[in-house]
Amino acid sequence: MAGERDPTMPDRVIEPGCLFCRIVAGEIPATVVHDEADVLAFRDISPQSPTHVLIIPKAHIASVATLEDGSEALAGRLMVVAARIAEAEGIAERGYRVATNVGTWGGQSVDHLHLHLMGGRSFSWPPG
Ligand code: AMP
Repeated sequence: MAGERDPTMPDRVIEPGCLFCRIVAGEIPATVVHDEADVLAFRDISPQSPTHVLIIPKAHIASVATLEDGSEALAGRLMVVAARIAEAEGIAERGYRVATNVGTWGGQSVDHLHLHLMGGRSFSWPPG
């Protein structure tokens, strides 16, 4: 895997120049709504719904496509954190969307795995 080891957390891979790695490192400000050992969540800078939160692994993983065998606990934790934030944001009762974009055709613009937690309005299906 490309990337460097975080000197403050030797087991964590970071990707120099990655926007979300820089948010994890505190080099770029973000409105953090949840922070735990391996997962960070912060508000999307360009929200597409009243609640729009991004949930990311602190380690650099480019997307779902590059998840490795053995990452099940981390991948699952991202989903559980999404559910807890949805409750905290008051959007759980009416429902919400959790989505992750992969690659060019998937509409991914930041190559660091992230779940979009979106709520506060209704969504149509299929998405565009
Ligand atoms: P995607 O297009 O699925 O890769 O989603 C990337 C998301 O990151 C977009 O919704 C952007 O609005 C969001 N984003 C980009 N830069 C920042 C930032 N500095 N802080 C918070 N969200 C950001």
